[in-house]
Amino acid sequence: MSYKAVNPFNGKTIREFPDATDAEVDQALKKANHFYHTAKDQPISERAAQLEKLANEFSEHNEKYARFLTTNMGKLISQARSEVKKNVEFAMYYVKNGAQPLQPVPYNNVPGKEAHVEFSSIGAVMSVEPWNFPYTQIMRVFAPNFIIGNPVILKHASIVPECAQAFEDACKAAGIPEGAFKNLFINYDQVNRIIADPRVQGVALTGSENAGRKIAAEAGKNLKKSTMELGGTDVSIILNDADLKTAVEGSVTARLNNSGQVCTAAKRYIVQSGIYADFLAGVIDEFSKRRLGDPLDERTTLGPLSSKSAQQNLHQQVKKILAGGAKILWGDPELPQGPGALFNPLIISGMTRDNPMYDTELFGPVAQVYKADTEEDILKIANHSNYGLGGAVYSKDAEHAKYIASQVETGQVAINQPLSSYPELPFGGVKNSGYGRELSDMGIREFVNAKTILN
Ligand code: NAP
Repeated sequence: MSYKAVNPFNGKTIREFPDATDAEVDQALKKANHFYHTAKDQPISERAAQLEKLANEFSEHNEKYARFLTTNMGKLISQARSEVKKNVEFAMYYVKNGAQPLQPVPYNNVPGKEAHVEFSSIGAVMSVEPWNFPYTQIMRVFAPNFIIGNPVILKHASIVPECAQAFEDACKAAGIPEGAFKNLFINYDQVNRIIADPRVQGVALTGSENAGRKIAAEAGKNLKKSTMELGGTDVSIILNDADLKTAVEGSVTARLNNSGQVCTAAKRYIVQSGIYADFLAGVIDEFSKRRLGDPLDERTTLGPLSSKSAQQNLHQQVKKILAGGAKILWGDPELPQGPGALFNPLIISGMTRDNPMYDTELFGPVAQVYKADTEEDILKIANHSNYGLGGAVYSKDAEHAKYIASQVETGQVAINQPLSSYPELPFGGVKNSGYGRELSDMGIREFVNAKTILN
């Protein structure tokens, strides 16, 4: 069985789930198609009320749902509770605001003609999601598509099966109609078969660049619209005039949150020379305060990585980085002993363009630091990347920070705060970080038929 929940803190297997059969896949497609057709005659307000019930289910049982996150992928229990809350916020945003962007838009700019564009459902969406935010990644796709009337079939990461099951159970408990959401414990071939099925008209992936290339190719081969939310090497830019405390706190949070396993984590600190020494001292101080341990223990401030293989992979990556000429400024590169996936936080400098690991996404508590004299140099370092997901700029001059933010080649940049996702704001990247937008009004228009009616 390939879907297995293993506690990454102690290596103990919690539960295994049987692989889905092809008959189950067929059944899911049939039910999804049934939902797609019946939802066409249903007012959006009815689905909004059902989605609110799902939000309430998560809200009322926060602790139960949070624990699956902590035991399946090692998220600190406090951060797990926050994820469940955010899951509720994402759902409630579309409960309250989902109908508005689907209203017809008049296009009366052709002389002598009247026209409008109306937005309608297109069919099922195949959603392939990662383990780092096991609920909110699903909700980002499910909530807007449910409001539209597109059913969602989920293939979740194989290491968080209890979370996938919990989301489906929550849908059942909330009375979400059959066919609107289905989790399947499927393999890659079955994902491809679903993508090829004519009842499926959309493909949404959040994951690595590698998975993005494969799934986008399958979607392209079958002429299916897709969104790709992929990895990044986001920067935290610290200008000389930054407020030191704000910059240190924001940059450390942005690197260590979720044990460093966030697509928009601050993977590269680019620090202007005048503030470099103080910033580095502040970051080292904060890193050294982190207490590695059991994510269920409220005193722990840095949990394990998501799995033993994630730990081994990051360890190998760090070895290659060092062999390529970079050095450790702070931290112990040896792995903590034990069956779990703990990883000591590290601060690395001296990453050069000829290092074979340059521009590799490091998914864990490893910060890279760059020193730069001029803003031109800062932007050169920031933009010398094949990724373009997010970033942050720290400066007391907010207008100037906005100017720098505009020069950073990514899909989103935060000023004087760590980048975070809000249901009201579009979320997504450029370059190898993918394409398309989730959340906000933009997210709900990704998988719609924007139909022009002319008279
Ligand atoms: P991953 O290995 O790419 O896996 C993501 C999902 O894709 C999993 O469900 C995985 O299934 C599935 N998958 C991988 N290859 C596939 C294929 N050929 N066919 C069908 N399914 C396939 O990524 P991850 O390690 O779970 O997640 C971390 C990555 O996600 C990082 O790069 C991170 O930056 C990115 N991410 C991006 C965003 C964003 O919004 N931009 C948000 C969160 C994470 P299995 O588990 O069964 O392999």
